[in-house]
Amino acid sequence: MRITAIDTIPVRVPLTEPVKWSGGTRTAAPGVLVRIQTDEGLTGLGECNGPTLPVIRTVLEEELKPLLLGADPRRIEFLLHKMDEHIVNYDEIGRYAIAGVDLALHDLLAKSLGCRVCDLLGGVYRDRVIFNGYMFIDTPERNAATAAAFVGRGASTLKMKVGRDPDLDVERVRAVRQAVGDEVRIRVDANMAWSEATAITVLRRMAPLGIEFCEQPLPWYDIEGTARVRQAAGVPIAADEGLTGIRSALALIQARAVDVFVLYVSEAGGLSHARDIVRLADAAGVQCVLGTWAELGIGTVAGMHLAAASRNFQLACDTHYLLLEDDILTELLPFDGHVAKLPAEPGLGVALDEAKVDAYGRYEAHETVFGDADDPRWIPRIGMLQPMRPHG
Ligand SMILES: [Mg+2]
Repeated sequence: MRITAIDTIPVRVPLTEPVKWSGGTRTAAPGVLVRIQTDEGLTGLGECNGPTLPVIRTVLEEELKPLLLGADPRRIEFLLHKMDEHIVNYDEIGRYAIAGVDLALHDLLAKSLGCRVCDLLGGVYRDRVIFNGYMFIDTPERNAATAAAFVGRGASTLKMKVGRDPDLDVERVRAVRQAVGDEVRIRVDANMAWSEATAITVLRRMAPLGIEFCEQPLPWYDIEGTARVRQAAGVPIAADEGLTGIRSALALIQARAVDVFVLYVSEAGGLSHARDIVRLADAAGVQCVLGTWAELGIGTVAGMHLAAASRNFQLACDTHYLLLEDDILTELLPFDGHVAKLPAEPGLGVALDEAKVDAYGRYEAHETVFGDADDPRWIPRIGMLQPMRPHG
């Protein structure tokens, strides 16, 4: 089998409402679809998510496509090695491009074998993936009402963005805890906003409210500080922005800095590399959950195949899929409340709706998830939010 054509298609699907986090507000889920065609008539589908999608698409078109055309798409490890070496001088952005190719290669290989992508990754360990109720920065009252609605639809875990106002964050978590009772898990995500002192102070105040874990309290580069926060705060700690690939995973494990990896198939460089990180995590006793860049259906289902084939992923995963107005697939992914069932069809198990791909094939190059149109004075910052005022 040979690769005969590769299409890269930018798409952008609106969210049902704007969502606010510590670094900005986002209104849509953009992605670059990757479609690999072969001389045997099989087609593989992938999706790139991540920052600077125009750059990621250029890497696909100008750098990776020439390596892939004419190659046997079933040689995934060989092609990944070629692509990894090719992008070595810009690997953190290059991996996002490789991820879209890797998804399409896995889709093709599984279709050619008549099996599902999860079967290539170890087989079905679980056929359903549990997702959390994902909450953004809002008033305590509105967050509490949203939390109650999520729990009413079956969510057993809630995730709350924090990191703009420490006092208000504590009040928001308290309001949500009061609204949902003690059985529901609550995790928080500071997206690197806090200084070390702020992280310890805020998390010590939140700890009695029952926090499952805190994502990325400090900047991505501060592994030693994160380890100190983990020791001092009394709350388990997760790496998200700090987990950029297998080498940072190793560094985080060696520093005993975190309890949880928030893993993105896109950022890891695809399913193969993500699977390697999960294996490291297994060996180190680190829990893995899927993170989200607001993937569309292909990116979302790829993460589901990874989680479905692993003994890890015991905790609820992230998705923005429930916030999308629509998707580019012929059928929406089968979510029942906050639980999604793996598709039964071969490969990733999804197909593109070409009319929707056309409809959402608009591109706004200036869209960014950083910055806040509602609050022009807000400047996204990392590791800068200072300790709270003394209380009492
Ligand atoms: Mg996060």
